[in-house]
Amino acid sequence: MAGVYFHIPFCKKICSYCDFYRTVQLNELPKVVDAMCDEVIRRADYLADKQVRTIYFGGGTPSLLTHRQLEQLLAVVRANFDCSMVEECTLEANPDDLTAEYLAGLRRLGINRLSIGVQSFDDDCLRLMNRRHTAEEAVSAVKRAQCAGFENITIDLIFGVPGFGAAVLNRSIDVALALGVQHISAYLLTIEERTRFGRMVEKGELQEVSDEVAESEYLLIHNRLADAGWEHYEVSNYALPNCRARHNSHYWDGTPYLGIGPAAHSYNGTARQWNVASVAHYLQGAPPECETLGEMELVEEFLMTRLRTADGFSVQEFARRFGDRRVKTLRCAAMGCFDEGLLCEMGDRWYIPPEKLLLSDRVIGSLFDL
Ligand code: SF4
Repeated sequence: MAGVYFHIPFCKKICSYCDFYRTVQLNELPKVVDAMCDEVIRRADYLADKQVRTIYFGGGTPSLLTHRQLEQLLAVVRANFDCSMVEECTLEANPDDLTAEYLAGLRRLGINRLSIGVQSFDDDCLRLMNRRHTAEEAVSAVKRAQCAGFENITIDLIFGVPGFGAAVLNRSIDVALALGVQHISAYLLTIEERTRFGRMVEKGELQEVSDEVAESEYLLIHNRLADAGWEHYEVSNYALPNCRARHNSHYWDGTPYLGIGPAAHSYNGTARQWNVASVAHYLQGAPPECETLGEMELVEEFLMTRLRTADGFSVQEFARRFGDRRVKTLRCAAMGCFDEGLLCEMGDRWYIPPEKLLLSDRVIGSLFDL
């Protein structure tokens, strides 16, 4: 079982908070698509198991791809992997790219899940973030997608935006719930130096929210969605029953995936690979960098991924993979977290309670002292 990820690092406009590798040189997009097809063929052996269950187009802005380009990429995956059991094929989209005609084409191509980058349903907040759409356009895009037959839609929201407190966030949650989507990802805004927000902070024009505000907004979302019957199953992810993101869940349960395109990452259970974060170097054929994981790195990888989720991990599985001796050491390292209620044990599983998942980095850090 495996996943294939296509990274499309192209955007029409740069968001104020964006620290990802991306470019506005849209003229390079056709060449990159061709190079990505070649990359799939070249790296088809990276995954030992050729049975692909999920395909994901992420970015950047994958909704800048034409139907033909999407078809080209899907065809090369189908030609090189067993795609007879694909359960989920997701495309990340900007609301203003989702015309009725574009959506109908996506359905014909077999895309069965949309991830719509809404971020907020407040126009002032969207303007500050330099997003391409308005709140009304985002609402219309979701409704058009539903009319086109999409029954698995996720939207992204951002919280912790300076100057936009609980009232604005509450209104965005109201709109999201009323829209009838199946999944919501809610990310805490982090301000990085190399971004427009970073420069605004440096000039004193913006002040990052405090940890207390971040935590209270995180809990606001958690409580509102939990009260409405949503499952908070990963630090930033909420789903209606049976609507978890399958592709993203692979990242947290150790399923191998092949990442194609500039700056894409891959993992096959024993090694990580990552492509050069430069369209120019990618087009020149720069090979991916590779890191084979030693036992300690595999332990860290196991804990870091599993403990991001509300399911946590099975101690038996940990013992089977890394030995009973390590379980004892892990238990000693975890004592403080158990005492503070940051870590819980139920049956065979250790997990961080969902309302504390925002602190998962702290918990995971304290367990690394093995
Ligand atoms: S759409 Fe995504 S990748 Fe593009 S600039 Fe905005 S945050 Fe960055």
